[in-house]
Amino acid sequence: MAETATTSYTLIDGRKVSKDIKAEISQRVLERKAQGKKVPHLAFILVGDDGASQTYVDNKVKACKDVGFHYTMMRFADTISEEKLAKHIAHVNDDDDVDGFIVQLPLPPHISVEKINEQIRPDKDVDGFTNRNFGSIISKQPLLMPATPFGVIELLRRYQIETEGKECVVVGASRIAGAPLSMMLIEQGHATVTVCHKYTKDLGAHTRKADILLVAVGKPGLITGDMVKPGAVVIDIGTTKVDDPSKPNGFSIKGDVDFATVAPHCSFITPVPGGVGPMTIASLLLNTLRATELRLP
Ligand code: NAP
Repeated sequence: MAETATTSYTLIDGRKVSKDIKAEISQRVLERKAQGKKVPHLAFILVGDDGASQTYVDNKVKACKDVGFHYTMMRFADTISEEKLAKHIAHVNDDDDVDGFIVQLPLPPHISVEKINEQIRPDKDVDGFTNRNFGSIISKQPLLMPATPFGVIELLRRYQIETEGKECVVVGASRIAGAPLSMMLIEQGHATVTVCHKYTKDLGAHTRKADILLVAVGKPGLITGDMVKPGAVVIDIGTTKVDDPSKPNGFSIKGDVDFATVAPHCSFITPVPGGVGPMTIASLLLNTLRATELRLP
């Protein structure tokens, strides 16, 4: 008999979880202050004047204000050379007052993201982008976890979604999302993990085996209802801006999962927006607090 869709699903509310995490961090900041300890300080390096990057950084600055962190904005013209930017990074690495910092991407094409990332001191790398922190996922002493996968793992944990022994299928294998997520699911989640990418043949044959399906590709509607096992947990990391004349700003944000056809098959599913997105900033704050507490307990 053909398997049928389940009738009800739980919507995973990333906004609420992120709000809870922020409240916990604010409390911790108050406790640190009361004990005369250092307040976490997060710095932002922004190169050029890309509007989207500015919005991302504004949101992160607002999050710092919300939880009581100190913050510093550093802006540079998009004509800055790679060497000069590296010098500024060295300066922030040595600044004892800064606990963590991020270099907002994208960078201008003449600057190598990989080279710049590797200039960041791993114990201040609160985005978790450096090779040291990537490798740290499979070490016995993880340092700072890559922010987006960390947010996904935290969402699963807070919704008490068991990963141990489960079939997890990760679609997308990027350095920022899919690859570190798959390693975290093995190391921390004790899951059996399949990673799919653009060369994967018959994607649906893999996704249909998933107890937990996690998608980070950037192709709206890639995953449809017929590709999901009944009762699966579906985590949609994709965020793509698509034209939408019905919205006041003319666009909307779409995930990789075709929510209308997939949700009826799920036990749990994240919406886009409002699922994984808000968790990335929460992870950044958690990493900054951790960076501070590792250095100055
Ligand atoms: P990316 O670097 O472009 O990587 C996309 C991955 O998807 C690659 O591994 C690629 O395979 C794979 N892929 C491409 N087409 C595919 C297909 N048809 N079937 C299966 N896999 C396919 O993108 P990214 O930085 O990981 O971002 C992915 C999405 O997540 C984007 O929408 C991005 O905006 C979103 N995102 C959201 C957050 C958040 O905070 N919510 C954070 C990060 C990313 P190859 O490796 O073979 O090229």
